[in-house]
Amino acid sequence: MSLTVDIKLREQFLATAHAMSAAGLNTGTAGNVSVRIDGGMLITPSGMPPTACTPDDMVIVAGDGTASGRLAPSSEWRFHHDLYARRPEAGAILHAHAPFATSLACQRIEIPPFHYMIARFGGNTVRCARYATFGTQELSDNILAAMDGRSACLMANHGMLVFGRDLDNALDLAIEFETLCEQYWRTRQLGEPVLLSEAEMAEVVERFRWYGKPRSG
Ligand code: 13P
Ligand code: ZN
Repeated sequence: MSLTVDIKLREQFLATAHAMSAAGLNTGTAGNVSVRIDGGMLITPSGMPPTACTPDDMVIVAGDGTASGRLAPSSEWRFHHDLYARRPEAGAILHAHAPFATSLACQRIEIPPFHYMIARFGGNTVRCARYATFGTQELSDNILAAMDGRSACLMANHGMLVFGRDLDNALDLAIEFETLCEQYWRTRQLGEPVLLSEAEMAEVVERFRWYGKPRSG
């Protein structure tokens, strides 16, 4: 049975791709975005700037990896597909060549706990996935390893990716992550930052379990 996507979701989805550009996360055809749908995902087409796309240009990729639509899916559909399979909590995934994240990724840096907001992405550090050619299964495998227990990673000599529970949440997190990368870059200009301890970070990770969630009971 072929999968379909409501026009409202297609419009919201394309709006997210536009918002990534407006926020300075991506320029031109760099980066891509996907959202989980019943039985697969909706993903941006390959090699197309969002400004040149209509909602109907967004591509459906089924859970078995088959794409339907007029245009080819993003060359990075594999890591989107593999992450949805591995991480049930991921509802939307954003990949960007954002300036500060990409600068750090070119240094192949694991971002240490220089700021408590690192814990927002699941742990004490944000890892950098090992380098592999864009669009390959090897890159997807490297990303899955770097994302173990995390919701963001750098990609060596390439960029970054973030997932969230839905499109709005993933976009907010991507902007927060790029801000964090800028802060790390700036503090490194002054020397080595003082890092938070494992105990200090463990407390923050615990607090992020309820931070921003509705009160229960
Ligand atoms: P696509 O246009 O195929 O999504 O590629 C952009 C990109 O960032 C590849 O890593
Ligand atoms: Zn890329």
